[in-house]
Amino acid sequence: MDEMTQRQKYDLKRKIEELKSCKGKHTELISLYVPPSKKIFDVVSYLKNELSQSQNIKSKTTKKNVLSAIESILSRLKQFKNPPENGVIFFVGHKSVGADQTEMVAFIIEPPLPIITFLYRCDSLFYVEPLQQMFTEKEVYGLFLIDRRECTIGILRGSRVELLKYMTSQVPGKHGRGGQSQRRFERLTEIAAHEWFVKCGEKASQIFLGEDKLKGILVGGSGPTKQYFAEESYLHYEIQNKIIDTFDTGYTDEFGLKELVAAASETMTDLKISQDKKVMKRFLKEITKTEKSLAVYGEKQVRKALEMGIVDTLLLSEDLRKYRITLSCQSCEYTEEKTIDEDMLSDFSPPNCPKCSTSTPMEIKENIDLVDELSDIAEKTGTKVELISKNSEEGDSLYSAFSGLAGILRYAVDI
Ligand code: ZN
Repeated sequence: MDEMTQRQKYDLKRKIEELKSCKGKHTELISLYVPPSKKIFDVVSYLKNELSQSQNIKSKTTKKNVLSAIESILSRLKQFKNPPENGVIFFVGHKSVGADQTEMVAFIIEPPLPIITFLYRCDSLFYVEPLQQMFTEKEVYGLFLIDRRECTIGILRGSRVELLKYMTSQVPGKHGRGGQSQRRFERLTEIAAHEWFVKCGEKASQIFLGEDKLKGILVGGSGPTKQYFAEESYLHYEIQNKIIDTFDTGYTDEFGLKELVAAASETMTDLKISQDKKVMKRFLKEITKTEKSLAVYGEKQVRKALEMGIVDTLLLSEDLRKYRITLSCQSCEYTEEKTIDEDMLSDFSPPNCPKCSTSTPMEIKENIDLVDELSDIAEKTGTKVELISKNSEEGDSLYSAFSGLAGILRYAVDI
């Protein structure tokens, strides 16, 4: 698999949020990336070496924390004969909680895409960049800047901009000296400009045809030349067809590449946004129907429809941030499920059991991200799940007007 599903992206995004929120008091949080090709034996000897190096740490508490984190990873490594298919990542250490307190945390992640390089890092934060890279590596766009003087060709890989070619022209300025030679001057200028565009088009086509993962091409420049160029088919037709749009930039040199990416970033999220919009419009259209509406909303109703297996598409806001918790009585068999906001989770005190007369409050047996919980139910009944961002007006209405969840039914039914 070389592409993540929406669900995997969501889960990874949430995991990164959680990892980023962990802060060590000192450099005592360990991040260890083990690629699939690495031998566990080698990782163990690497860590044993780190273990002896860490004996030199001056601060007593830091030393103690680092040593226990490494030992914790070493003992967890015993569960592996070989790294899993995509490798494995360990994030282990003492994060600070409140004034002088720390708490040991350990995350073991089998990522949805393969880990490329072995990496060990001990820092006051977990090192999540390689995980973040997994979102963007597949996003490759061609960058093309042109006016009558300069042409710059680049590539956007994830968030990295690469300059590939910079060229300047010999095309004279648009205005000659006037007089009799004016028309001739203009004609020569246009010929020179045409030749310049041909040259730039050929170079860009050659470069972009070599990029097989190219998702699209962004064309920029300061004047009207970029539109003219984009419309006049100076590029190889396969490349021509990949032009997403033209954007205004102040520069047409290397600096312009960054401007182009900034200007286009709205449209590029638009690509995902346009999918979000489409499915949300389907839902909003259903909701206005007075008869045979396929729309369902409200957590209780959506849940019920899901369990009945009649939801065609489940719409979930990426920003839902709720948890489904299972409470259970410590004296009798009673359990119940409840949905609470993420920021309520840490202060949540469970009520007493409504069934028996015990005075001890129930305990939280399980908590799961609501998006994951509902997606799991959806998967069992062949329901399509769409994770929708707040970036569009429609996506925002799912979040604010429908508390982040809704559904489109397979057929109309009263729930
Ligand atoms: Zn009870």
